[in-house]
Amino acid sequence: KQKQFSAELSLPSVTTDGQRIHLYLNAGLLSGIASEIAECADGIGLYRTEIPFMLHQRFPSESEQINVYRQVLSAAGDRPVVMRTLDVGGDKPLPYFPIKEDNPFLGWRGIRLSLDHPELFLVQLRAMLQAAGNGNQLQILLPMVSNLDEIDQTLKYLEQAFTELNQELNTILVRPKIGVMLEVPALLYQLQDVASRVDFVSVGSNDLTQYLLAVDRNNPSVSSLFDSYHPGILRALKRAVDECKQYDLDVSVCGELAGEPYGALLLVAMGYNKLSMNQGSLARINFLLRRVSKQQLTELLGSILQQSNGNQVRGILAHFLRKNN
Ligand code: PEP
Ligand code: MG
Repeated sequence: KQKQFSAELSLPSVTTDGQRIHLYLNAGLLSGIASEIAECADGIGLYRTEIPFMLHQRFPSESEQINVYRQVLSAAGDRPVVMRTLDVGGDKPLPYFPIKEDNPFLGWRGIRLSLDHPELFLVQLRAMLQAAGNGNQLQILLPMVSNLDEIDQTLKYLEQAFTELNQELNTILVRPKIGVMLEVPALLYQLQDVASRVDFVSVGSNDLTQYLLAVDRNNPSVSSLFDSYHPGILRALKRAVDECKQYDLDVSVCGELAGEPYGALLLVAMGYNKLSMNQGSLARINFLLRRVSKQQLTELLGSILQQSNGNQVRGILAHFLRKNN
């Protein structure tokens, strides 16, 4: 099967009725970006910078970071690269920066940590800007944003880094597009305000599911309750894409759901047309989307959103796939 999927990898992801879906890669290691499969993606939709940080013995210096980010950008050729600022804490500890908390997933993670350590945050922003230079490939993504003030503070740091560098380097760098992860539920209700501040939103369905359902994404005792097909989650995802369109805010999905066959179908049915996923899912999702009609998926969505649980949702999608393949 994988061979059959791969044979079409270089063909664009277009539904049978002509809807182009852009497929991007999630990555954290260079090896994941420089592969044959990765070359067929429309770009990198999520580069998790915490991965190179985790591989170090201490915080990487500005020049070390520039070096890594340059390699990532260059491996992506001229395609866009969405780099996420450090998202440690929660399930991703740094060995050289221990954090002791009772509730790590509700604690000091992502942008919260960066904003409490501007000396680290500024180094990372400066490194990203320098790696991108005068190209317009780089987009910067902020993890775990839970209020607008975090965006405003970040924009100030970014402006500071930008001004400093233009002076130091005697040049005018390109301003990258800025986006936020939609993974804290409250932000779902503030998308209009988000839209007035940033260029795009990337839906982190892993954390969004965890926080909407109050289910730890890594706890095996409750893993059967962690269900991104829960109708409540689906309604939240539908609301997000509708509002982003209404407020002219570019939107994509980079959580695991985007790389699952049923998940990708659902997201396309809702109106998402940018999906970012792990390398292992790209060929299969591309193959699948080239065989379905957007129109049919949209028609299916009404009944999907009326189901009472995730199993029923999956049942409808399984039936749809059997009928259409
Ligand atoms: C997510 O939360 O869906 C996401 C993509 O981020 P991470 O899995 O790195 O927390
Ligand atoms: Mg997340």
